[in-house]
Amino acid sequence: MASVNSVQELKNLVDPIGVYGEYVRLTRKGKRSLGLCPFHREKTPSFSVDQETGLFYCFGCHKGGDLLRFLQDVEGCSFGEALEILANRAGVTLSLTTGRSSGFPIAPDRKERLRKALASAERYFRAALKSEQKGSPVRAYLEQRGLDGAAVETFALGYAPLSSGLLNHLAGEGFSPEEAMECGLVVEREQGGRAERFRNRLLFPIRDAMGRTVGFGGRAIDGQEPKYLNSPETPVFQKRDVLFGLCWTKEEIRKKGQAVLVEGYMDFVSAYRAGVLNVVAGLGTALSAGQAALLGRYAKEVILNYDGDPAGLTAAQRAVPVLLNHSLAVRVASLPAGKDPDECIKSAGAEAYRQALADSVPFFRFLVEQAQAKAALGSVDGRVAFVDSLADYLAAVPDPLARQEFACETAGRAGLDPNQVIRRLADKTRGQKEVAAKAPAQEPLRVPINEQMLIKGLRLFPKEGAAICATLPEELRKTLVVAPLLDDLANGKEPQEPASLAMLAFIDNSCHEALTLEAVRSAVRSLLANHLLEKQRRIRRQIEDAGQRRDARLVEVLNREMMAVVEEVRGLHGRTA
Ligand SMILES: [Zn+2]
Repeated sequence: MASVNSVQELKNLVDPIGVYGEYVRLTRKGKRSLGLCPFHREKTPSFSVDQETGLFYCFGCHKGGDLLRFLQDVEGCSFGEALEILANRAGVTLSLTTGRSSGFPIAPDRKERLRKALASAERYFRAALKSEQKGSPVRAYLEQRGLDGAAVETFALGYAPLSSGLLNHLAGEGFSPEEAMECGLVVEREQGGRAERFRNRLLFPIRDAMGRTVGFGGRAIDGQEPKYLNSPETPVFQKRDVLFGLCWTKEEIRKKGQAVLVEGYMDFVSAYRAGVLNVVAGLGTALSAGQAALLGRYAKEVILNYDGDPAGLTAAQRAVPVLLNHSLAVRVASLPAGKDPDECIKSAGAEAYRQALADSVPFFRFLVEQAQAKAALGSVDGRVAFVDSLADYLAAVPDPLARQEFACETAGRAGLDPNQVIRRLADKTRGQKEVAAKAPAQEPLRVPINEQMLIKGLRLFPKEGAAICATLPEELRKTLVVAPLLDDLANGKEPQEPASLAMLAFIDNSCHEALTLEAVRSAVRSLLANHLLEKQRRIRRQIEDAGQRRDARLVEVLNREMMAVVEEVRGLHGRTA
C-alpha cells in the first residue's frame, strides 16, 4: 500500500465533494454544491461546498472549514481519526512523523484512547471464542442459533469467558484499569475491587457508522439475567447516536435509498444472512432523533420491521413520527403475531421473510389498522376517538396531498364523510401548530434595533427600502432575527405567520422616532459592519486552526478570503464617507 507523509499529499488524493456527499445530498449550483446542513435542522439547503477549494460553509449555523474540520465535526472524531478516514478512502497508509513541518501533528485524544482500548478488548473476546472447544456452551449456543464460522467472522463475534483475563490483556497492551472502566468493560464491585462487566456471554461488537467499535452487546448463554446486557453509555458510546450494523450495510442502504430497521442485533444478523443487506438495528431503546438523522444520511425510505408483539407494535407507532420528522418516507412490514424477524426466518425461511418486507405497507395504512383494531367504530364517540388518535401522525405528514389522501382513508374506515374528517383533522392539526407557534413567543421578543429600523424602513419607503435590502448579502440576511418578516415584505407579501405578525407588532410599537431613509441606510451599514467583523473573527479562528495543523495551503486560501473581507470593510467605510 502506498504511503503518504503530509496532510496536503493526502488531501490531493481524495475528491472532497465525494466525501461531503456521503453525509449530505449535494446538488451542484455553479461553482458550489448545496445541500441540507448536517449540523443543524433545516428545510432549505444552507450548506455549501466550494467546488474549487473544497471548503464548506453553512449560511445557517456558520460552521465552516476544510474537509478535515468537517469530518471531525460530523463524525465527532479527532483530527488524527479524520486523517485515517481519508487515508482509508484513498487506500494509502499514513507514515506518521511528528515534529517535522510536513508531518502529521497527531495528538491522540481521550476518545481515541478509549476506542483503541475497546478494539483491543474486541481482539481478546474474539480470541476467547476461537479457543473455546467444540461442544462448549457458547459453541453449542452458536450452533443452535445457526451462527456458523462465516457469521462469527463477518460480525466479529466474541466470547467473554468465565475466567477473568481481560484486565491483564488490556494492561499488556498499555491500557490502565481506569481506562477499562471508562469504556464500560469493567465495573466497580460493591465489596471493593473491580470485576469484568461481561461474563460467560456471547458478545456482539457495537460499531459506529465508521466501523469503530464503541461498545458491546452481550447475550447470556446460560440463562443468566438479564438476557441481553449492553455496554453503558461512555464518552464514545451514546445509544441515541448509534445504529447497530450500519457500518456493514450503509453502502447498500445508500445504493437502494432504503433501509430496513429492526429491533435487535440478533434480528439484524438473521436478516442480513437472509439476504437483506440494507438492514440496521436499534439498540433496544426507542428510536431517537439522532438515529433517524443518521439514517437520513443514507436512506430516503425506511421499512420499519419491529417485533409482531404489542411492545413491538407500540415501538413502531412511536418511531413513525420521528422518521417523518427527518423527511424519511416510512413503510411498515408486519410479521405474524408475536414473532420477531429472527424467529420468522427460522420458521418460514429467508424467502418468506423477504416477501414480508416486499409486502410492507405505507405507514398510514399500518397506523389506521392499529387504531381500528382498538376502536369501537359502532358508536359516534368511538369513531371520533378513532379519527383523533390518528391526528398526531397526520400532522407529521409533510405533503398536504398525502395528508388529504390519508384523511380520506381514515374516513372510509370509520364510515364517515371524508369532508367531515378532513375538517376535524385540520382543526386538530391547526390547534397543535398554534400551540407550537405560541411556545417560543413566551420568551420576550428581542429584535436588535438596527433590524427594527430595517423593517420599519421597508414599511415606510417600500421602493427605496427594497433597494437597500437588496444590498444585504444572503448569508447575512439568513442570520437576522427578522429574516422571515424581511422575506415577506421584500416580496411585497403581507406577513401571515403568527410569529412574523407578533414581531411586526413589536417593531411597530417600539420604534418611535421619525425614521429617515438616511437612518435606514446607516442601520444597514451597521448590520453589514458587524457581519463582516464576525466573519473576520471566524476566518481568524480557522487560520489559527489550520496553522496549528501546519496546513499551509488552507492557511493561504483563508488568508485570501480574509483579504477579500478586509476589502469589503474598506468599501463599506468608503460608502460612509
Ligand atoms: Zn448548518
